[in-house]
Amino acid sequence: MDPRVKIWFVGAINEGIAMSRTVYVNGAYMPEAEGKVSIFDRGFLFADGVYEVTAVVGGKLVDYEPHMERLERSLKEIEMDWPCSREELKAMHMELIRRNKLDQGWVYMQITRGSADRDFKFPKDTKPTLIGFTQVKNLVDNADARTGVKVITVPDLRWMRRDIKSVMLLAPVLGKQAAAKAGAFEAWMVENGKVTEGTSSNAYIVKDGKVITRPVSNSILAGVTRRGLFKLAREHGVEIEERAFTPEEAYAADEAFLTSSSNFVMPIVEIDGKRIGGGQPGPVTRELREIVLAEAMR
Ligand code: PMP
Repeated sequence: MDPRVKIWFVGAINEGIAMSRTVYVNGAYMPEAEGKVSIFDRGFLFADGVYEVTAVVGGKLVDYEPHMERLERSLKEIEMDWPCSREELKAMHMELIRRNKLDQGWVYMQITRGSADRDFKFPKDTKPTLIGFTQVKNLVDNADARTGVKVITVPDLRWMRRDIKSVMLLAPVLGKQAAAKAGAFEAWMVENGKVTEGTSSNAYIVKDGKVITRPVSNSILAGVTRRGLFKLAREHGVEIEERAFTPEEAYAADEAFLTSSSNFVMPIVEIDGKRIGGGQPGPVTRELREIVLAEAMR
């Protein structure tokens, strides 16, 4: 083999670009190059849709049911029905894992209100669009988790229904790009002087052994990882206080971390250029990452 091909191949795997990935579009599996939706799709024109991202570890879905509960709620809030039965949706997830031989990474799925002539009102008798694909990522032995990551704060520019897992992600895109420009992993969004959450994660600080995080409301997405963390923390005697905190409190915290399905528990060692807890992942964060990972690998 031409060595350049080999380098590209390894690079593609490392980048999580599974070659000739099989994707799902409206009932059919196909090579990703053939996966297409209409330019009139309301997801494309109006961001009129919702999504879920479920982690995969050892070829198995992690916390699948809580993701589907949240999906049900998102669909209900935007007055949409399920596009297929729950069994069919689960079969899609499993089949995508099987066809792509996915060991670690995630399954992404998105449902939109289908394609119709451009009109803000809901179209009549239009079938929803359902798509799914996999992405490869080393979730367990994650290099970032060993060192901890940096975050910056940005204004929260989002709408008022952040509890719905909507595909309308422009504000998070801008926030994440600002973070990337600043050499940071994530941006924590701030509203009325308090941190709401990360662009694609929930936000936590640790002070005097106690974990502090914002309560769920319309201001944040109720993370599935957050929910699992609460249960496991309780079992391990780690106290969690649900309240909003300011960036200044975060700068002075002993530890900080974020949670999401694609990062589990990710230690944070710097916020807005200020070192947290001596610049090392803290003991509470490390313990929580371990117990959340152990549960995911069960
Ligand atoms: N908040 C936001 C805004 C997110 O996009 C995500 C990622 N889906 C999360 C929190 C974390 O949620 P989960 O643990 O369910 O991935």
